Amino acid sequence: MAVVSSNMRLAVIFDELEKFYGRQAASWPTEPYEFLVWWHCGYPASDVTCAKGWAALTKEIGIEPETLLRANVAKLRSALKAGGMVPELRAERLKEIALRVQNEYAGDLRAGLTGPLAKVRAALKKFPNIADPGADRILLFGGIAPVAAVPSNNPHVLYRIMRGPERENYGVTYREVQQMIEVESAESFDGRTRAYLLLKVHGQSVCKRTKPKCGECPVRSECAYFARQR
Ligand code: SF4
Repeated sequence: MAVVSSNMRLAVIFDELEKFYGRQAASWPTEPYEFLVWWHCGYPASDVTCAKGWAALTKEIGIEPETLLRANVAKLRSALKAGGMVPELRAERLKEIALRVQNEYAGDLRAGLTGPLAKVRAALKKFPNIADPGADRILLFGGIAPVAAVPSNNPHVLYRIMRGPERENYGVTYREVQQMIEVESAESFDGRTRAYLLLKVHGQSVCKRTKPKCGECPVRSECAYFARQR
């Protein structure tokens, strides 16, 4: 019997997911500074809430660091209300981001994100609400380093497919999935953004954290979690 290697299996899984969902594209700004602003445009942060807040902010105020620093706080809060809860806190965070970018990066965050990867990652994690998953996402989609980023809401997806029910500890699941992608897929921007986007859409649509819809799943024949349910 032919043995299918893990990297071949992963390639088959991503091909099947792409056949099912179609080619995916990032629905958020991929420039590092713009992503930081977008990420604070909604709460709870999601593609939908952040897009709503972003639309209001760009229309009513603007996003450049000096514009945000000059912006009237009440107007900023009012624009951010379109993105959901705690607009006052998100307004403060945006001012903080703009100030840091202005003072420490002379207004150009991307130009300052150079040097060893560990240093760039540490710099990103100094911004509010950016932990490792957010830093990985910025590094990958911003074209800085082809790291194995994993969607922060959906690390369970690939874990279930490759190994079965996810670990209780989120951080452990995240790291193990990241290692799977690192070891078993080519280190390229195209491949890793494609993997991220397909895992994201699958986790949002079918392989939900609670009650995955395994009966509708295009990769169930490859899935260790599904095999254990039968
Ligand atoms: S079969 Fe079920 S658990 Fe496995 S990937 Fe599909 S939806 Fe997720």
